[in-house]
Amino acid sequence: MTSGSTMALVAHDGMKNLLIDWSKRNKAALEPLTLFATGTTGGRLTDEVGLTLTALKSGPKGGDAQLGAMIAEGRLDALVFFIDPLSALPHDVDVKSLLRLAILYDTQLAVNESTANAVLANIR
Ligand code: PGA
Repeated sequence: MTSGSTMALVAHDGMKNLLIDWSKRNKAALEPLTLFATGTTGGRLTDEVGLTLTALKSGPKGGDAQLGAMIAEGRLDALVFFIDPLSALPHDVDVKSLLRLAILYDTQLAVNESTANAVLANIR
């Protein structure tokens, strides 16, 4: 079964294992969605979880900006974004921009496991 809903999955390097584990546990709920991911995250989700998704550019190389554009164009219903709370990031400005657009457009947004569970339970 496919769903009309689109979700993007993104995790910073220090958070990627957490997202992979969460995606394995929630694979059945994720599979019906139309999935997008930033480049490196997407590669791991494809290889290690077996999800079918569209991988954008790597986050620091424009992937976050691509997702922001999707939100602005009304093409993304939900964003799971596991931000590393303990590391400084060279592309912090892109991270802030993506979060700002998700807030502005009232996009369902999850930044940790608890909120990812809530978003996934809510999405159709
Ligand atoms: P990545 O990007 O999946 O290409 O590592 C994540 C990010 O830093 O936004």
